[in-house]
Amino acid sequence: MNKKNHSLITRRQLVQTAAASALYLAIPSIAGCEVLSKNESFGAEEGKALELMNCNIIDVKNGVISRGRTITIRRGLIESISGKIPSVSEGALVLDMKNSYLIPGLIDAHCHSTFSSEASLSLFGVLTTAKQIKQNYVQQLTSGITTIRDMGAMPGLLHHNLELIEKKELAGPRVVYCNSITNIYGSHPDVNLNDVSIFAGLAMAFSGNPNLWFKDTAELKEKMKANIKGGASFIKLTMDNKSLLCGKSAIPVYTDEQLKVIFEFAQENNMAIAGHIHSKFGFDRALHYGINSMEHTIADADLTDKEVSVMAKKNIAIVPTMTVAQMMASEEAYSELPKEFRTDFIKNEMAVRRRYLQSSLNDFVDPSIHKRNVEALRNFKKYGCENMYKNGKYMAKPDIYFNILLRGPKNILKMKDAGVVIGCGTDSGVPLVYHGSLLREMEMLNRIGFSNKEVLQCATINNAAILKMSDKIGTIEKGKYADIVVLKENPLEKIEACRRPQMVIKEGNVYSFNQ
Ligand SMILES: [Zn+2]
Repeated sequence: MNKKNHSLITRRQLVQTAAASALYLAIPSIAGCEVLSKNESFGAEEGKALELMNCNIIDVKNGVISRGRTITIRRGLIESISGKIPSVSEGALVLDMKNSYLIPGLIDAHCHSTFSSEASLSLFGVLTTAKQIKQNYVQQLTSGITTIRDMGAMPGLLHHNLELIEKKELAGPRVVYCNSITNIYGSHPDVNLNDVSIFAGLAMAFSGNPNLWFKDTAELKEKMKANIKGGASFIKLTMDNKSLLCGKSAIPVYTDEQLKVIFEFAQENNMAIAGHIHSKFGFDRALHYGINSMEHTIADADLTDKEVSVMAKKNIAIVPTMTVAQMMASEEAYSELPKEFRTDFIKNEMAVRRRYLQSSLNDFVDPSIHKRNVEALRNFKKYGCENMYKNGKYMAKPDIYFNILLRGPKNILKMKDAGVVIGCGTDSGVPLVYHGSLLREMEMLNRIGFSNKEVLQCATINNAAILKMSDKIGTIEKGKYADIVVLKENPLEKIEACRRPQMVIKEGNVYSFNQ
């Protein structure tokens, strides 16, 4: 194709894409709740009580069940928990829980709600992408997740969606967010969305850049202020010195001066700091500066008892996101799995991963997105890992993630024994990791060696502590938000019981699924 022709096509595409991008923000009604709409949730009349009777309430702190209780909810809060028999005469809405098991609303402590979990974005898929992003919130809620921590979003799009949730035009969880990621230009995620697709670049013009991309201290300060003005309650850093993308190695890191500025800003504004960390380099820096939470798990070190005890002493939590490692550990990259990765644990995780890739997952993602994501795995054989970046294919290096699977469980168990707060998050929004899949992470923690009670704690009280919301969420207690998941079976006996909630209640609003 000659140059002239090429630019002609590009210009035409540009016009189409601009129109599509404008549409992207303007189609909430088409892309809204297909699974749930506001008509499908209900609650008590304003000021009246919602009474849940015959509840088996799971106390996640102690791992015990209090049976046959009545929960009274008013104005979105738990007013009382008692043994009384509710009376309808005062205008209360009474629901019989028929001795189902009630757990606190789950929390996904690491996800990206404005990302569509696609390996590549295309102009032709713009409507699917827009629809999927709306659906992300619905999936979270229907999976029992009543609060999410968004770890880096397109701020404009996020706020648009939050408004829809607020107005009850979109069913979704409560969202705690950082707006864009406070990353130095060129650091993780070291891909400029403008380069990924012309569509992404234009969409960002309307919906904001998920990367802060600062180049110097002055710009850093200014952009951090803009993030906080936009409602950010914490700061997300990316701490690694190496790229996780196939075909790329070193990436820029924060200077000590920049980190000093960031930590001072956080302190002045009472903000927590969360850091994306896959490397010992990032771990050591985070340990030194005393970050609030480490995100993900490191690939290149077995941590010592001393390092882990410093973590506990400095009150540094971790959100391991082990299922991302499971998904990004692409066995498709090898003709045979290298010997060092052939452990029983990894072999089993690969079997779980294979079943997941082959399943239809229609409740969790648009089928065309899942299909394209699975097809993208062929790029490993087609290009070879080293050649991917220069060919415009942005996929994660499998060996990093196999090493996380190799070392992660041991490091995490060590942290647990040392008393480090361990949260639970998915990183959903990245390719192949779909919103609402917290249960996959919970089951994986279970396979690593966490008891059912500990898994429930990670996804509720521990996450609430990481979000600095322990007074409002994480347990079913008087005075807290009425965020409740109703399960048929007892998750203390069987963690899979969390898979299909019968009912999800968020701030007193009931979403019933009749299963
Ligand atoms: Zn993430």
